[in-house]
Amino acid sequence: MGSFYIKTNRIFSSVRKYSWLFVPLVAFGGLWLPKLGLLMIPLMTTLAVMGFLKGKYWCGNLCPHGSLFDSIIMPISINTKIPSFLKSKIAMALAFTWFMYMLGGRLIKVLGIFGSATFLDKLGYIFVINYLVVTIVGTTLALLVSPRAWCSFCPMGTLEILSYKLGKLLRLNRATDQKVTVARTEMCHSCGKCSRVCPMQLTPYLEFSDQNQFDSEACIRCSTCVKNCPAGILSLNNAGEALRIKEETDIDGYRKRRKIAAVLKRVRPLGGDVNEYTFGLTDTERVECRPGQFILVKIQEKPVMFRAYSISSFSEDGSELSITVKKMPGGYGTDIIFNNFKEGDPVVLEGPMGSEFVLNEKSDRILFVAGGIGITPFVQMARDAVEKSGCEKDVKLIYGVNHSGEFIYDDHFTRLKTSCEKFEYIKVVASDAGWKGKKGFVTDAMKDMDLKGYKVYMCGPPPMVRASLKALKHAGVEDEDIYYESA
Ligand SMILES: Cc1cc2nc3c(=O)[nH]c(=O)nc-3n(C[C@H](O)[C@H](O)[C@H](O)COP(=O)(O)OP(=O)(O)OC[C@H]3O[C@@H](n4cnc5c(N)ncnc54)[C@H](O)[C@@H]3O)c2cc1C
Ligand code: SF4
Ligand code: SF4
Repeated sequence: MGSFYIKTNRIFSSVRKYSWLFVPLVAFGGLWLPKLGLLMIPLMTTLAVMGFLKGKYWCGNLCPHGSLFDSIIMPISINTKIPSFLKSKIAMALAFTWFMYMLGGRLIKVLGIFGSATFLDKLGYIFVINYLVVTIVGTTLALLVSPRAWCSFCPMGTLEILSYKLGKLLRLNRATDQKVTVARTEMCHSCGKCSRVCPMQLTPYLEFSDQNQFDSEACIRCSTCVKNCPAGILSLNNAGEALRIKEETDIDGYRKRRKIAAVLKRVRPLGGDVNEYTFGLTDTERVECRPGQFILVKIQEKPVMFRAYSISSFSEDGSELSITVKKMPGGYGTDIIFNNFKEGDPVVLEGPMGSEFVLNEKSDRILFVAGGIGITPFVQMARDAVEKSGCEKDVKLIYGVNHSGEFIYDDHFTRLKTSCEKFEYIKVVASDAGWKGKKGFVTDAMKDMDLKGYKVYMCGPPPMVRASLKALKHAGVEDEDIYYESA
């Protein structure tokens, strides 16, 4: 089974990368130079003020322990589920009480020697010991459970939450309170990636409010979900901005999204690690798909989770649709689809979705560029572009793979080519000495083409998309004529 929680980059600024250096400085350096502990006083003050304005923003962006856990410990952490007790209010209350008792009791004792020569050393030492204990406990949990397990009940985090509650009560943090914001919930793939990468193991996609925001006080506003959302619909914004984004986001292509009852009719292996899944649609209401759209396939109930797949073909009468899935090594969803989905099983689909890749019917010159599994949307799109125009349009398909054995739907495109001379089907192989055709990358095939005036649709791995964008611009294709998705 692929792993649920994903270790991914959480370092988006130099402060996040290097602030961990503060930890050895105070927790260990302070054992020799106790006055270093006094640095904790401005640190705790900043944290409390920041909490008032921005919730747990400090934890996700500035905290030295957070930086230690994310940048140093994460690569070697077990990274498993944080037990729900550690995330409970009881754990937070216990840790907060313990911390305040330890700190408060010692502070009262030391205040008794106020004015003496050793006062500052003794005061600093109290903070050093507290910081050392947090470092030891936090690091142990980061290694054995999850990098941010400690942060679920850290007393400083609780202090920020208390301060934040006050800010909300006084209505003084509305402009500064930036929360995870979803542009439109209709566009969410319900893939759960925001939850799988979240250091705090929260579930934003299941909890967006009517204002399109994730209201959790436990959110450390670290942007990891924002950077990883495959739909690109997340941001960190205040309530006013969230409203503006909601109003300005076009959801054409998502309006007909709905739950669709289906049955898995056929599983067709296409070679290697790719299968085609054909679903019989059992809903009485007809499902209307447009070439280039995608569909969501439910892979599990708790927590509910779907995977997005381009519709590789659908029947005109709306009774069937197919998707084509490549098994991802260690992939959580494809593991479930390849091992558990059996012919005859009921399946829940949701969609159809997407407008970004729907064919512009007015264009006479069309270039499709596919890399690997990125060919799937073009199965139907190329057929539509060629057959519906009565072979009138200039349609080209550049299809790149690593090894010649990886071409799928080759007979489909070859048949299309036989039926329409004008259709150009260009196969490119990157690294296969035995391949007699065009060698190299899709960008090599573009070099000899006059592409001015073409509408270009691209789907493939991000490096292919990036290189092709450069090559297309060089070939004089306008930005507004290029549509792409990364597979
Ligand atoms: C609009 C759209 C259309 C799509 N169409 C198709 C299609 O037609 N065919 C198809 O096969 N796929 C398609 N996809 C991709 C598909 O939705 C799934 O993402 C894909 O099947 C992998 O799912 P998974 O759960 O098996 O992989 P996941 O487990 O989600 O892994 C996906 C990626 O996450 C990262 N990751 C996972 N685990 C870790 C880890 N432990 N540490 C670090 N990184 C990790 C890796 O980068 C990995 O490649 C499409 C996606 C979108 C958004
Ligand atoms: S919900 Fe997003 S911003 Fe909040 S803690 Fe999780 S990953 Fe970070
Ligand atoms: S990561 Fe997936 S589930 Fe989360 S908001 Fe983005 S599309 Fe939705």
